[in-house]
Amino acid sequence: MTGGPDTRGRPADAGAGASLNAARRAADLEWLAGGGTVDVVVVGGGITGAGVALDAASRGLSVALLERRDLAHGTSRWSSKLVHGGLRYLEHGDVGLAWESARERSRLMGRIAPHLVRPLPFVIPLHSGVARKAGAKAQAGLRVGDALRIGARTSRRVLPPSHRISALEARRLAPALAETGLRAALLSWDGQLEDDARLVVAVARTAAAHGARVITYAGVAAVRDDGVEAVDELTGAGFAVRARHVVLATGVWSGELIDGVALRPSRGSHLLIPAGKLGDPRAAVNVPVPGERGRWVFALPRADGLVAIGLTDVPADGPVPDTPCPSAEEETMLLEHASAALEVSLGPDDVAGRYAGLRPLLAGADEATADLSRRHAIVEDPATSALALVGGKLTTYRQMAQDAVDRLTDRRCRTARLPLVGAPAAPAGSPPRLARRYGAEAPAVAELGATEPLAPGVPVSEAELRWAVEHELALTVDDLADRRTRSGLVPEWREAVVAAAAGMIPAWSSSASESSTSAPSPS
Ligand SMILES: Cc1cc2nc3c(=O)[nH]c(=O)nc-3n(C[C@H](O)[C@H](O)[C@H](O)COP(=O)(O)OP(=O)(O)OC[C@H]3O[C@@H](n4cnc5c(N)ncnc54)[C@H](O)[C@@H]3O)c2cc1C
Repeated sequence: MTGGPDTRGRPADAGAGASLNAARRAADLEWLAGGGTVDVVVVGGGITGAGVALDAASRGLSVALLERRDLAHGTSRWSSKLVHGGLRYLEHGDVGLAWESARERSRLMGRIAPHLVRPLPFVIPLHSGVARKAGAKAQAGLRVGDALRIGARTSRRVLPPSHRISALEARRLAPALAETGLRAALLSWDGQLEDDARLVVAVARTAAAHGARVITYAGVAAVRDDGVEAVDELTGAGFAVRARHVVLATGVWSGELIDGVALRPSRGSHLLIPAGKLGDPRAAVNVPVPGERGRWVFALPRADGLVAIGLTDVPADGPVPDTPCPSAEEETMLLEHASAALEVSLGPDDVAGRYAGLRPLLAGADEATADLSRRHAIVEDPATSALALVGGKLTTYRQMAQDAVDRLTDRRCRTARLPLVGAPAAPAGSPPRLARRYGAEAPAVAELGATEPLAPGVPVSEAELRWAVEHELALTVDDLADRRTRSGLVPEWREAVVAAAAGMIPAWSSSASESSTSAPSPS
């Protein structure tokens, strides 16, 4: 078996092979198409596939990762961007899943990706309409969450313990919170990702630093017992990849390549509101949806002046769309629920952007999608012995990958203490946005171009675009706008990035570009 360099737990850096770009893709593709055999071919470049590629490569296995679009093209860019301790699983009585989440959160915030995950305070308002019994129950749940945090060894300096706060303090943290009848609030802490797509790219690049061959715009058409048949989506040329093991990490598309994976996708939608409209909150607000167990509507403050309002949970049976979009009903429901808890009344004109994603939930009898487990499963295809890794969530991607690769090799998993590229943090004095998004690589990004915003109110800089093309495998303008910089979340930002990106991307890439995926209008 061949393998990548042994970095023994040190952060991988671009010099050690973490740079991905068109030239490296072409060389890796040529090697694979020329008959090169790998130990593991991973299909799907979301967080699950990137996690498997990193796990296998860091154990010394040779790996190819094939993604039919771009890294993080699927569900992995449409999440709530929380690395959470699993409180909602406690409400469903699933302590094991909550513990797994709390433990993985600790690893991500402590060693694996502290540059991409930050503590976020959450306020649960206790209005006069909230029965005292319900408030006491919510507080008891937060205490169990604290116990899991302590058990997972997340220090209270990283995530302080939950406690009750006054109405005044609650409104200081979240100024738009409705004042009338506000008795007090509960304050707790969880992990927030700078950006989910950036986590995927960081995991994939760390895998590349360990020797993985990461090929985007390579769709797998068929699985065989000795590998896969694929198509180079940029040229239309077919090729085969020979591999000892095949792992499918194709999320909600898992049923397309093998039989026997029963999924019940559920759509979750978010709206993006300018933070100024809500008084520039420093804490998230979390309110239970009346009459629904374990369902909450939250307003999550994000960097770059936005607040994300979520989250819906709607069964999405039928054909899987390439880019899901919130329905008009979901948008109305989110605006109404959020407005009920806030001083301001939010309407459609306040929405700066919107997005929806499909959860790859494992099917269960007649349960509502909100009640289906967020656990993961490994399904073996009897015809080819390929493993499909399905379900789960972003927070637990590392454990999911470990479970899958344990089925392929006896070699010890090394990812629990393996920092991603960019860890642990940017040096002091780095431009704030670059520090948040690139960590230790921020100075290298800044060397590539101007770090000022491309236009007033547009947070993206020219340096980020150049870095994405040279080191992060951005092959199309859409890759730049919708995955690397996330400017696609706000139409005005996207326009500025598309204009600035002209000339940075080779002409051939236009054939791979999809139509705009930014802030689709509600259907
Ligand atoms: C609305 C919403 C909010 C969420 N919030 C959170 C959260 O806050 N925290 C959390 O921990 N989890 C959250 N999750 C869950 C989490 O986002 C998902 O579990 C996770 O992103 C799934 O990743 P994946 O890699 O399995 O799937 P995907 O990201 O969908 O990746 C699958 C990839 O496979 C590719 N593919 C498909 N078919 C082929 C083929 N034939 N050949 C090659 N490639 C192929 C696709 O293009 C895609 O890129 C949320 C989910 C949703 C929907």
